[in-house]
Amino acid sequence: MTNPERYIVTSALPYANGPLHVGHLSGAYLPADVYVRFLRIMGKDVLFVCGSDEHGAAITLKARKEGVHPREIIDKYHGEFKQSFEKIGLSFDIYHRTSSDLHHETSAGFFKKLYEKGEFVEKESSQYFDQEAQQFLADRYIKGECPKCGYSEAYGDQCESCGSSLNPIDLINPISTLSGQQPVLKSTRHWYLPLDRYEDWLRDYILEGKLDGEEHHDPNKWKNHVIGQCKSWIDGGLEPRAMTRDLDWGVDVPQDIPGSEGKKLYVWLDAPIGYISATRQWALENAAKGEGGREDDWKKYWMDKSSCLIHFIGKDNIVFHCLIFPAILKAHGDYVLPKNVPANQFMNLEGKKISTSRNWAVWMEDFLDRWQGMEDSLRYYCIKNMPEQKDSEFTWKGFQEAHNNELVNNLANFINRVIVLTNKYYNGSVPEFDENLPLEGNDDYGMPSYHETELMDLFDRLDQLCESIRSFELRNGLKQLMELSSYGNQFLQNHEPWKLQKSDPDSVAVVMNVSLQIVAAISVAIYPFLPFTSEKIRTMLALEPIKGTDELLVLLDSLSEGEVLLPTHHKIGEPTHLFTRIKDELIEEELKLLHESQDGEKSKAMDRPRIKENVEFENFSTLDLRTATIVHAEKVPKTKKLLKLEVDLGFERRTIVSGIAEHHLPEEVIGKKVTIVANLAPKNLRGILSNGMILMAEDNNGRLEFVSPPQDFEDGFTVR
Ligand SMILES: [Zn+2]
Repeated sequence: MTNPERYIVTSALPYANGPLHVGHLSGAYLPADVYVRFLRIMGKDVLFVCGSDEHGAAITLKARKEGVHPREIIDKYHGEFKQSFEKIGLSFDIYHRTSSDLHHETSAGFFKKLYEKGEFVEKESSQYFDQEAQQFLADRYIKGECPKCGYSEAYGDQCESCGSSLNPIDLINPISTLSGQQPVLKSTRHWYLPLDRYEDWLRDYILEGKLDGEEHHDPNKWKNHVIGQCKSWIDGGLEPRAMTRDLDWGVDVPQDIPGSEGKKLYVWLDAPIGYISATRQWALENAAKGEGGREDDWKKYWMDKSSCLIHFIGKDNIVFHCLIFPAILKAHGDYVLPKNVPANQFMNLEGKKISTSRNWAVWMEDFLDRWQGMEDSLRYYCIKNMPEQKDSEFTWKGFQEAHNNELVNNLANFINRVIVLTNKYYNGSVPEFDENLPLEGNDDYGMPSYHETELMDLFDRLDQLCESIRSFELRNGLKQLMELSSYGNQFLQNHEPWKLQKSDPDSVAVVMNVSLQIVAAISVAIYPFLPFTSEKIRTMLALEPIKGTDELLVLLDSLSEGEVLLPTHHKIGEPTHLFTRIKDELIEEELKLLHESQDGEKSKAMDRPRIKENVEFENFSTLDLRTATIVHAEKVPKTKKLLKLEVDLGFERRTIVSGIAEHHLPEEVIGKKVTIVANLAPKNLRGILSNGMILMAEDNNGRLEFVSPPQDFEDGFTVR
């Protein structure tokens, strides 16, 4: 057997100086996740890496402004990113960070190798210096007018208005972002990558797809806007680019290189090397599992010529991933080069550009807090509107419509009908059917049989869906997936099993068997797009969840041989709810909050969990809440979070295990008045029978406090 094709897939390292929004998600993260999940179920050997980018001037500037150490900023955002990505279902093999020792070692080693190979040009030049702050001003430390478009707030490295990559020296009327003063020119030495020498090589590699005279990739399969940007940069002439900075936060230039003192690696040198250090970290962790992985397994992804490197990024990073990083990899010599860089354009919000500084965004964290259980709906809408070829638009109304009309009315409706009818007619068992039975109203039966024709049609539809994902046309792939479900709905509508079950049960058996096979196919094909929904459908079908081995490949193989996924007499499960209709009020509330918090702080309402659905008083009153006093407390051994508490209700004492140990010491809670849920069914927690629950208030920072009656209030009375 030949080895499976090998892929190393990266998503742009998010910059740890501000929260993530839906524009980020649709740009570099969701598309990569869909693609990677697809590769996995096609049986490919794929590794998906990402991590936080924790160096660079924007972080030190923010830290300075807030009067904290940069470490505080990066820890906050790194933790937040990691959690949000997990919640939305991004299936990274590793989510690493560039402040790690391994990354510092990897990127400094990389620099050293280029230095020793003589790939850098060392140059003394005049650079802007802030006399008040006693610091050289690179990148974000300096602002001024863009020489290309005239935008007045352009940074030293890039104009955010026209996207041009800049040098501080190019800026008109520059000022220091540290002191607001006009900077002076002062001489400093740096190491430059002579990009000008790579022009011809880059032209061959990117634009022609040729590497060392051999075919490397098909440039026609790259997105037009990516090739277009590259071509315009190369045609415009490339200039040597400094690979070091005079900074105090970042990766040190190796100390044994003369003149290294006070010099750090340029953040755009160290950040993409973050993909490599993340892969190294993955290999270390994987080897430590003792399941046959080796510490140098990272090399087969990065150094074996057959490995496909794919970078998912937003369009603002094209120059770094298509020109500068490839030139760096080429200069090093040991690494594979990107096979494709399917950069996306930008997503706007309600007719305006998403803006962090103006608080005009749908923040990932907020969405995940406020729309719990709706992760797949966000994935759906963001893929449906992915800015693949041109800028796209997020609107709350559009989100609601896509969810209600497509996920509820189409997908959930079809699957629900099939599961309900199968349970009703066949007691949940996949029906036997007569293969050669013609169906009423359908005259193209015969050879091959009707059932076979349907399976061939299913194969073709899945095959086209695969082709879309392979070509990075994910919007199209999602559309083809939904067409499977519309087709299923239409199929049921045409054959009306609910009318025919009594008069023509033989035909209904064929219809229901075909429908079940379509649902089974959807449960596999939906996995790259909506992984949480895939798992729910699989549960309804009583199939194992997708593990990401080769499930789609197996399905395609079986269909091509006329075999089915669900054999007759397979017993399926019960129907469950896939999606609930989104009411207008929820959307109006989001729009109101968005507009209210624009240009300002997040509004209070935005910051609080949403009020849950109404409950009837009768339901509420079934809860028995009582006042009580904690009389004894101890840590539950071998746990971080649990305290074993004894509470006095005045007429009885009982044991309650509570997850507050990270917030409250045992000795400080003894004697506390608390409110408890007294009739919660007892539960065994770590071998201790917990009889009830202590009510706690929790804020966004995870602070947990008791909900206490006054200290002189007696125990055992009701709270209502
Ligand atoms: Zn500009």
